[in-house]
Amino acid sequence: MKLILALMISFLATLAGAATISSEGSPTLREALAEVQGLLPSGYLDRVSGAVTVRELALNTDVHFRTEDLCQIEEGVEFGYARRRSITISKRLIELAATNTRTFSCGHRTFRKMLLAVLIHEITHVKDNAERISTDPDFQRIVGMKRVQSNSRRAVMNRNAATSADPYEFKNLAESLAVNAEYVVLDPEFECRKPATARFLSRRLSVPLRGECRKSYRVLSQSAFPEDNYSVSVSIDPSRIYQVHYLFAGQGQSIMSRWGHAMFRLVICAPERTRVGPECLDDVSHHLALTYRANVTDPNLNYARGVFGGYPSQLFIMRYLEVQQEYTKLDLRDIFSVPLRLSRTELAEFVDVTLERYWTYQGRYYFIDNNCATEAAKHLAIALPDAQSRLIGSITPLKIYNDIIRHSAELSDGSLRGLDRDQLRQRGILVESMFPRLNETYQYLKPHMPSFSESSLQRFLRKTSAVDRLRDYEAFAGAVQELSSALRKEAALRLSFFERYLAGRFMQELPRRAMEKVERDDALRRELSNLGEGLRLLTLQPWEVVDARYGAPTEEEVESQFTRFLEARRTQVRTSTERQLSQLQSILEKPHFEAELAEIEALRKTRKLTSDLIIQVNQ
Ligand SMILES: [Zn+2]
Repeated sequence: MKLILALMISFLATLAGAATISSEGSPTLREALAEVQGLLPSGYLDRVSGAVTVRELALNTDVHFRTEDLCQIEEGVEFGYARRRSITISKRLIELAATNTRTFSCGHRTFRKMLLAVLIHEITHVKDNAERISTDPDFQRIVGMKRVQSNSRRAVMNRNAATSADPYEFKNLAESLAVNAEYVVLDPEFECRKPATARFLSRRLSVPLRGECRKSYRVLSQSAFPEDNYSVSVSIDPSRIYQVHYLFAGQGQSIMSRWGHAMFRLVICAPERTRVGPECLDDVSHHLALTYRANVTDPNLNYARGVFGGYPSQLFIMRYLEVQQEYTKLDLRDIFSVPLRLSRTELAEFVDVTLERYWTYQGRYYFIDNNCATEAAKHLAIALPDAQSRLIGSITPLKIYNDIIRHSAELSDGSLRGLDRDQLRQRGILVESMFPRLNETYQYLKPHMPSFSESSLQRFLRKTSAVDRLRDYEAFAGAVQELSSALRKEAALRLSFFERYLAGRFMQELPRRAMEKVERDDALRRELSNLGEGLRLLTLQPWEVVDARYGAPTEEEVESQFTRFLEARRTQVRTSTERQLSQLQSILEKPHFEAELAEIEALRKTRKLTSDLIIQVNQ
């Protein structure tokens, strides 16, 4: 009877196709394999047919594997490999797992753990060969592929070794899956450090997440202004987020901005709110913008380098209001903020992708096929169910916007089709650029100012100088008594508004213009690099501010390291501001910046003149 039962069980097992794993080799290997089988979910190899064998062998690269230090192993040393259903493990690794009991600071920390990891890695390759998990579109989007494809041997775009537990994961999709499987099974912190990858692996490999670590939702808000960059940490805890919006900046003037810019907006509720609801839409100063940009520390954005992928593509997290001002005021572009329809689970997944991308991702920026829009589409698609993500099939920011509007019943909060600009504005979707108001002012002032000779405002903005305008304003102030009092007041108010805008615009563009000159002049660049903190702050990466063991930092890592960073930054800024100013002045006094200095001087005079004029016409 027992025999029949045993036969039946083994017959059923064959039907299910479950593979058995057997090993030949030393007791160390057999024990490790038994432990790994206990760690992996039962049925891990159910879809592999036939027996899987594990053996130990002195590998060719074992001769280069002499070190006893886990963190000093030469590149290129192999620990094992899988060929179809047969797995081979390095004899040297097994030997070290048995004899070396030290704990190290890198990777899996002990040789014993590393042996377990290598077994999990190779068994996962066997599973992947049968199930094709590494080519799952969501996995490709999470690890960051240029284009979703069916070849698991293609290289991964992310190259950010600084935040990787094992940069071998970047070799290709198959290795990426195998390396990450090691960590999701063995490291309880993995789900906090790579939450999006952990979610995916848990689902596809049936590995339960443990919930033992404290995930940190803190990110460091970035800014184009050195004094604001990394000056505060903000929480993107999904329980405090009312909505996620697709944020689209319309077409602008320069080559790079002609097709618009694709971003996201996190509608985060102010801390004093007890309820997360539509009222949080008013808490704009707490909202954040997520924006994929080419990280160009060299501000001379070079078109050819962009096309051929010379720039890293990164996710930046900035204050929504700064981004809104940048587009509507400086670039004079409309922005559209369209709510996305996400369930609370999808929203939490969206935040996990955000955390992982922010702390670990550096892809390559290609203007054509890996740009802000394709990055945004991939980011969103990970969180959305397949049927919905298929509705967004476009690779330009404008087309993504159109896709969302067209399918707004499925992707947004009800139908948005056919709304005109007024309706879009009333619903808070459109924030108009400052262009109409400025242009009207420009056309109004034009007849009175000889240097306002361009017919279009854009051309005027590119060419105008404060030196020219000052001449016009002086003449105007001299002749102002000839105008009627109503006209005088109106003109003075408009002039002051217009001039304030132009001065602000000049000051905002000054650092970029200065950097452009610096790029062309080696001596100047050397001087400026001595200038220190302010500019260096702009080129810092989040993972240089808070250096996690790998992936996203935990609560403890953020707390201790960011506090230290802020303290150092405060004293540095305080002690060096004086010195920097005098250095900056000496650099600005060089002949290269004659035009800028003259401009700043003229701006000072125009400001005095316009405010005097206001007083004068009101007397
Ligand atoms: Zn491998």
